[in-house]
Amino acid sequence: VKNNGKNHVAFYDAALSRDAVEHFQLETELRQALNKNQLNMFYQAQIDLKTGMIIGAEALIRWMHPTQGIISPAKFIPLAEETGLILSIGEWALAQSVRQAHAWHQQHPEFKKIAINVSAVQIMKSKFADTVYGILMESECDPSIIELEITESTLMQHTQHVVDTFNQLKLLGISIAIDDFGTGYSSLSHLKRLPLDQIKIDRSFVKDLPNDKDDAAITSAIYAMATQLGFTVVAEGVETEEQEKFLQRLGCQTAQGYLYAYPVNADDFVKLLTLNNQR
Ligand code: C2E
Ligand code: CA
Ligand code: CA
Ligand code: CA
Repeated sequence: VKNNGKNHVAFYDAALSRDAVEHFQLETELRQALNKNQLNMFYQAQIDLKTGMIIGAEALIRWMHPTQGIISPAKFIPLAEETGLILSIGEWALAQSVRQAHAWHQQHPEFKKIAINVSAVQIMKSKFADTVYGILMESECDPSIIELEITESTLMQHTQHVVDTFNQLKLLGISIAIDDFGTGYSSLSHLKRLPLDQIKIDRSFVKDLPNDKDDAAITSAIYAMATQLGFTVVAEGVETEEQEKFLQRLGCQTAQGYLYAYPVNADDFVKLLTLNNQR
């Protein structure tokens, strides 16, 4: 028994250190990923539920790893946040997306919005509004086409710095959306206190629409509350026509999901925009 116990411990240790080594290696590689041009922005269409037209896109980062293929942001963004690399990666993603959106908006006026994900760490650990201002100046992009997506966990860090940053961003003329709404722990009073423009209904509520009565009730309630507070609403993760119909009946303006388009690279997104024009 003692022996077994020992082996078990040894096995456990080995597994632990294998994880640690893998983690460390990924971190080392992530440090170099930016300089090696391995990061790439993908874009997922956002659709006007009344007309079916593409009106904008959400920018989603990808890591084109030389041996592991495409690594999901769900895997490396947390690592980037732990190590502080998110500051340089996030700034790069922002600049890249803004430049791209500016070009698309000029060529296709119906392209009116780029939604860009921002980590809580960027808001808390940097002069984020200054960074955004610099990028706006350099790109000459119209600030009204930029929307920053911030998760509820950022709102939880309800410090003066966060509130000041939001107010500065609003003064620059950009808009702010709460991502994954309903999944975090933010108090509803934050919705009132902070200068927000849009709520994104999380995919987990959309997934089982329209049959799941609870999800239907939650989605309707979020929509009603958001609308009465003056926010626009985007539903994410729309995969079926039944979900789309439910959201249209509700009055929801905008949707995003595999029903319309997967996230694609910039070249492929241009093709979608061109088709959009011909509808
Ligand atoms: P998110 O912001 O909630 O992004 C939506 C995710 O849902 C994306 O995953 C998208 O590809 C996926 N998705 C879109 N439509 C559908 C659908 O119909 N069905 C399903 N099942 N999934 C759908 P992705 O691209 O893997 O990104 C994962 C998360 O990584 C994002 O979640 C966001 O939190 C984070 N992320 C992505 N890009 C960035 C970035 O540039 N900066 C930061 N800070 N975070 C990012
Ligand atoms: Ca998002
Ligand atoms: Ca989301
Ligand atoms: Ca999500």
